[in-house]
Amino acid sequence: NEPNNDRDCNDSVKVAVRIRPLVESEIARGCNNVLEVIPSLQQVQVADKAFTYNYVYDCESTQEEFYNSCSKKLITNLFKGYNVTILAYGQTGSGKTYTMGTCYDGEGEMGIIPRAIHDIFTYVRDNFSYDFTVTVTFMELYQETLYDLLSKKPKDQCNVEIRDDGKNILIPNLTEETVDSAHKALEFLRIGSLSRVVGSTNMNAQSSRSHAIFTINLCMQKKDDSNQNKAAKFHLVDLAGSERSKKTGATGQTFKEGININKGLLALGNVISALGDEKLQAGYISYRDSNLTRLLKDSLGGNSITLMIACVSPADYNLEETLSTLRYADRAR
Ligand code: ADP
Ligand code: MG
Repeated sequence: NEPNNDRDCNDSVKVAVRIRPLVESEIARGCNNVLEVIPSLQQVQVADKAFTYNYVYDCESTQEEFYNSCSKKLITNLFKGYNVTILAYGQTGSGKTYTMGTCYDGEGEMGIIPRAIHDIFTYVRDNFSYDFTVTVTFMELYQETLYDLLSKKPKDQCNVEIRDDGKNILIPNLTEETVDSAHKALEFLRIGSLSRVVGSTNMNAQSSRSHAIFTINLCMQKKDDSNQNKAAKFHLVDLAGSERSKKTGATGQTFKEGININKGLLALGNVISALGDEKLQAGYISYRDSNLTRLLKDSLGGNSITLMIACVSPADYNLEETLSTLRYADRAR
């Protein structure tokens, strides 16, 4: 690994907690807000417990404030050739898709992905010393099977496999679209999110049990020096809902799905907490335990930069899941 002293970030993993406002169904239930943010300490307090993170956001934070304060600066690292990964974790309904901006429809307040795409193309437009190639891919990981969301084939024929050549993670046959504008990149985000859910009559049910991985690949070729080129991968991951399957009362097929998803989130939690632990970092980190961590292997740890966003509901009704998310995120810091 190369030295990483020009990165605009000291830690390889940072954690942000975002509390969404109470939603209508919670207000209708008469839910109370049980979380308090102490901005000066970057803490979330709940009952008699306090958790400290790199960033905390209360329900008043706008999409713009959120992006500008913890995500925007990661783009600079991409252009220096570092891989960057942003992940959103939390129970279904906690704000992962809203925060990531995975379901882009051109309306409302944009989440991270569309803002990042605009910033990347602004940088490309304003930088004259490199030739840039930008490509996008969009995958869905469901029950340990990886699907190519930009494939034009029927869903049952668009599964793809992960290969590890020892240095890089490769996904042969994955559709990789070259994009020369923010507009084109956003069009693939939109098309891919439409094909996200097939094989289930309940769209929300399935999409909450799968991980959506939108990736922007950058190739940079120095104009006056053909020996100088850099590449970077930017993974934007809207993770599956973190809720326990027992709470949803799931059985049979649904229960199996719950178990597989826990496997990915569990393996991710183990990898990310190992990355924050100097002793473990020197040793062996087990990326092989799930397809989610195999897929992200070259973009978690090493020289790459990770932002884990833990999304939570402020309602007393969701307290148990919220505490579990806050603990998961605490392990990652
Ligand atoms: P998830 O993807 O975790 O299942 P969603 O992103 O779909 O959750 O959010 C659930 C609901 O809460 C949506 O209606 C969404 O618009 C709303 N929501 C989530 N986060 C916020 C926020 N920070 N501000 C306003 N509304 C939010
Ligand atoms: Mg979602």
